[in-house]
Formats: sequence, C-alpha cells, structure tokens
Amino acid sequence: CVSRNIVKNQDYESYRFELRVTREQLELRALADQQFKTPVIMLEEFLDRLRQLTNSSRASLFLSTPRDFSNCKSIVDCGMTLQAGVKTRWKEHELTLVRLGLNSGENTSLSGEQLENHGVRSLIGAALVSPLITNRKRIGAICLTNQECQPFDERALRLISWASQFLSNTLLKVLNHANIEKQARQDGLTGLVNRRSFDELIDNAFGRAQAAQSACSLILIDLDHFKSINDTYGHQAGDEVLRRVARILQDRIKEIRSSDNVIAARYGGEELAILLPEIGLAGAERIAEVIRHSIETAAIEFNDTRIPVTASLGLSTYTSQAMESVQTLVAAADGALYQAKSDGRNRVCSLTSAPV
Ligand code: GH3
Ligand code: MG
Ligand code: MG
Repeated sequence: CVSRNIVKNQDYESYRFELRVTREQLELRALADQQFKTPVIMLEEFLDRLRQLTNSSRASLFLSTPRDFSNCKSIVDCGMTLQAGVKTRWKEHELTLVRLGLNSGENTSLSGEQLENHGVRSLIGAALVSPLITNRKRIGAICLTNQECQPFDERALRLISWASQFLSNTLLKVLNHANIEKQARQDGLTGLVNRRSFDELIDNAFGRAQAAQSACSLILIDLDHFKSINDTYGHQAGDEVLRRVARILQDRIKEIRSSDNVIAARYGGEELAILLPEIGLAGAERIAEVIRHSIETAAIEFNDTRIPVTASLGLSTYTSQAMESVQTLVAAADGALYQAKSDGRNRVCSLTSAPV
C-alpha cells in the first residue's frame, strides 16, 4: 500500500512538472506571437521572459556563421545590470561558453569546477548553453548564466531546449523580415534612407527637439550641374558619382560624436539630406563645410576618367520658438540651398528662419 502511494505521488509530481513546463512554453510562444515594433524587441522580450522563468542572472542570444564559430556575435542580451568592466568580462565568458556549446552541438550545462576548467573563474557560478540548429547547421546559441553556483535544474534545461528549437525555426524568418523592412527604408542606388522614410524620421526628430527644447539641424545637398555630368560622362557615371557622394556623407557622419542619431537620406534625384538632431547652427555649419570640401576634393573616377564634382549645401536649424513646424525647417534649408546656388554654387548657405 505504501509503495503504491509513493508511485502515485511520483506520477502526480511528474504530471505537475510536465504541466508547468508546457504552460511556460505556451507563455513564451504567445509572447513571440505578439506584434512588436521590431524583431529585435521581440527577441529581447522573449529572452528576458526565458531568463525570469529559469531564474538566471543573464540571458544572451548569439548568432554565428555555420562552421566558423569564431565569428559568433551577441545580438540580444538582458538581465541584471552590471558595471561596464564587469559586463565586458561577463560577455567574454559568455562567448567562451557559447563556443563550447556550438562545438559540442548539444545542450551544455556547466557549474563550479567545470566552468573553471574552461577558464571561467569568476562572476559566473552556473551556465546553460543551447545551440540553435536549422538544416543541421549550428547558427547560434542561447546562453543562460547565473551568479549562484547552483546548477540549472531539469525544468531550465527543458525550457532552454524548447526555446532554442523554437528560435531556430523563427529566427531566419525574423531576420529575413528585418532585411525586407530595411530594404523598404533604403534607397537602392545609394543605400541611404529613402525619401518616404526620411519624411517620417524628420517628423519624429523635430517632435523630440520641440519637446526637449533642443536644437535640430537639416542640411540639403544638391550636386552642381549634375545634368551636364550625365551628358558628358554618361548616366552610369552619374550613378557612380551619386554612390560615391553618398559614401562620403556616411564617412563624414561617422566622425561626428553623436553620429548614432544622424540620418542621411536620398532626398530626390541628385539631392541628399542630412538630419542632425541636437546639433546647433555652428556645429551644423562646420559639418556642412567639411562635407562640401570632401566632395570637392574627392577623386571620383569612372572608367579611369576623373569626374570633378561639387555640391551646394543649404542649412537650417531649429532653435526652440523660432520655428513652429518641420515644413518651416525644410523650407528654410531649401531657401538656403537656392541661395547657395545663386551665389555661385560649391558653397554652404544657412538660414535660421523660413523666407517669408
Ligand atoms: P544645378 O547645379 O542647378 O543643381 O544643376 P543640375 O544640372 O544639377 O540640376 P538639374 O535639376 O537641371 O538636373 C538634375 C539632373 O539629375 C537631371 C537628372 O537626369 C539627374 N538625375 C536625377 N536622378 C539621377 C540618377 O539617379 N542618376 C543619374 N545618373 N542622374 C540623375
Ligand atoms: Mg536638384
Ligand atoms: Mg543639381
């Protein structure tokens, strides 16, 4: 009678365990099915919930090229906040663990001495790595880490295996989708943001500048006598000039301290635009002049023929009350560009308010 009761109890415990794991898998699945602004936000939410369910300190998702795991990169990570130096070391350890998991191709659970044997001698007390495998290729891994030395339990192992299988199936779709979205925002010839997207972005940036009462500058760039470049060197040469000028803009933007918020766009045919949030008139004028000079001095060649290229730049700056709408900002930059053209081209002109 006692032994029958024990067996019954064990059955009951295992049902409860299965039910809990299934409920948690369904919860993660439902979370991934929700609408998110970007695929990365979905991955962040998914990973963070997995981290909570498995009581981990941190969770990271790595992607790798199949066969060459040295290229492995963390694309999403979440969990307890760490000081900069500690975070760097923790991430190095994660990378070591993920490479280990990718090499073995199986779920890998490590704690205490096993971690030490692999060079993880501080910060992390227990780790669980599960590789993402699609079409028999190892494309990345999920890594759960804990400060405590307590090894991960069976439930954590079941959840991470399910999560890595689920992400292996959805990740490629998500990445393809992200790629398509990116392409829809990009101009095909120059790779810069396209006009439709720029109109949205400038609206948002202007709104933020108004709310924060901070500056925001806009530079419109129009290539000089571009029609005659096409007529003289051919349309393909014209296309190459546009591509090269776009690259010059991107290179110069990288040199700006707060370059993360800067947006470069193809505004029209041979017209490009740069939006500089939180940059005032003096800063924007300096940047515009550097760009003008870079275009003028660039050695742009097509079929071994050097093509001299110059551009005119019109600049406008939003400074709190002076402008009430984004249209005024654009009109002012357009007015300044017109001025630069009529003053003789290959120059920068600026206006801080719209022409009446
Ligand atoms: P300005 O100095 O006054 O700006 O003179 P412009 O010749 O640059 O100006 P205009 O507006 O007369 O001519 C612009 C030309 O840009 C006409 C058009 O054929 C050319 N263009 C527009 N988009 C492209 C493109 O994608 N590729 C090439 N090759 N040419 C383009
Ligand atoms: Mg033009
Ligand atoms: Mg032009």
